[in-house]
Amino acid sequence: MKQRTVLISGAGVAGPALAYWLSRHGFRPTVVERSAGQRSSGNPVDVRGEAMEVAERMGVLPRLREAATSVSGMELVSASGRRVGRIAVGKADGTELEVARANLAAALHDAARERAEFVFGDFIAALRQDAAGVDVTFAAGAPRRFDLVVGADGLHSGVRRLVFGPSSGYMRHLGMYVATLQLGYAADDPSTVLMYNLPGRSVSVHPVNGSAMAAFIFRSPVIPGLDNRDIAACKQVVLDAYADGGWELPRLLDRVHAADDLYFDSVSRVRLPSWSQGRVALLGDAASCMSLFGNGSSLAITGAATLARALSATPDDYRAAFRAYEAEHRVRVRPTQRGRLVAGALLVPATRAGITARDLAVRVFSRAPARAAWPPASTRT
Ligand SMILES: Cc1cc2nc3c(=O)[nH]c(=O)nc-3n(C[C@H](O)[C@H](O)[C@H](O)COP(=O)(O)OP(=O)(O)OC[C@H]3O[C@@H](n4cnc5c(N)ncnc54)[C@H](O)[C@@H]3O)c2cc1C
Repeated sequence: MKQRTVLISGAGVAGPALAYWLSRHGFRPTVVERSAGQRSSGNPVDVRGEAMEVAERMGVLPRLREAATSVSGMELVSASGRRVGRIAVGKADGTELEVARANLAAALHDAARERAEFVFGDFIAALRQDAAGVDVTFAAGAPRRFDLVVGADGLHSGVRRLVFGPSSGYMRHLGMYVATLQLGYAADDPSTVLMYNLPGRSVSVHPVNGSAMAAFIFRSPVIPGLDNRDIAACKQVVLDAYADGGWELPRLLDRVHAADDLYFDSVSRVRLPSWSQGRVALLGDAASCMSLFGNGSSLAITGAATLARALSATPDDYRAAFRAYEAEHRVRVRPTQRGRLVAGALLVPATRAGITARDLAVRVFSRAPARAAWPPASTRT
C-alpha cells in the first residue's frame, strides 16, 4: 500500500512532535521550516499533564528532565533591587517540568529527525487542493505534491493565511507584547526567577541550566506595521518601552541591543470555528492560541499525538480523522482560552497602585501554609 505523504509547515514544538508520531503510524512526513535553523531564544515553557506522557512515549522525557530548570520561586523586586515578596513556583513532584523552549524544540526535533525529512530555510508559497492531493509551491524549493498538509507554523501561520484567509477574522491582540532572549551570562541563583514591574511592564530574569534568560512583557495596543521577524525593529520597541526603568534594566537593555536572536510577539488569542479545510489542517498555535497564558507547548505536543492517532485510525478518510482530532483536542484547549485578565493583572499590573496591591497580596498569600502554585497554571505556556 502507498505510504501517505504529509507536509508539515513549522519545526517549532508541534511540527516535530507530529512528524514523529506520523512516522510511527506509517505515514511519510516532510517538515518545512522558514528559519534557517533552530532558534536559541524563548523563555522556559511548561510540559505538564498529558504532554508528559506523550514525551515519555517519544523517549524524550529523560532529556527534558535533564534540561529542566530547578526554579522553585519567584522574587518580586523593587527599582532598587529590594526583594518585596516571594512566591513558590510550579510543582516539585515530577509531574510537570519547566524547560527552555529552545531545548524542548531541539529534543523533539532530534526525536523526529531520523524519521522525517526536514527542510530548513524555506516555506510554502502557495497550495492548491484537488480530490486526490495538494500541490505545493515553495518559496525556494521545487514544487511537490502531498496527500495532506498540516500548518504547525505558530501564531502567524502561513498555511492558515493561505487556506483560511487573513488573520483579522480569528486573531485578537490581547493588549500586550512579549520579548525574550538569552542573556549570555550565568544566573546568580538557579532556583529563583526575579521579576521587576513598572506600570504596564514586567521584566524577569529566569535561570535556565545555569544561564540567565530575560522576558519582557508589556502592555501596548497593536503597533501598526511591526513585523515580528524584523528583529531590529522589535529590539527598538523593547528599548523604548523600558527606557525609564530601574533595577537591572540598563544592563538588560544593553543585552537587548547586542542580541542576534530575540523572540518577540504580540500576546494574542486565535480562535477558529474549524481547524481543517479539505486536505489541510492546523495544529498548535496555528489552530488555537492564547500566547503566554495558554499552556501552548503542552497543547502543541498533545495535539500532535492526537492528530497522528486520528489519521492512523481512519487512514482512508482524512475528513473523519480531522473531525476526530478536533473533537478530542478542543476539549483540552477550551479551558485555556479563559482567565487571561487575572493572569495579566497579576504579572503586569497596569498602574503603580496595581503593583503595590499585587505585592501586598503576594506577601499575605505567601504567608499562608499551603504551597502556592505560581504563576497560576493558565499563565505559563
Ligand atoms: C523562537 C521562539 C521563541 C518562543 N518563545 C516563547 C516564549 O518565550 N514564551 C512563550 O509563551 N511562547 C514562546 N514561543 C511560542 C511557543 O513556543 C508556542 O506557543 C508553543 O510552543 C506552541 O508551539 P507551536 O509549534 O504551535 O508554535 P511555535 O513553537 O511558535 O513554532 C512554529 C514554528 O513555525 C515556524 N514558522 C513560522 N511561520 C512559518 C512559515 N510560514 N513556514 C514555515 N515555518 C514557519 C516558526 O519559525 C517556528 O519554528 C516561542 C516561539 C518561537 C518560534
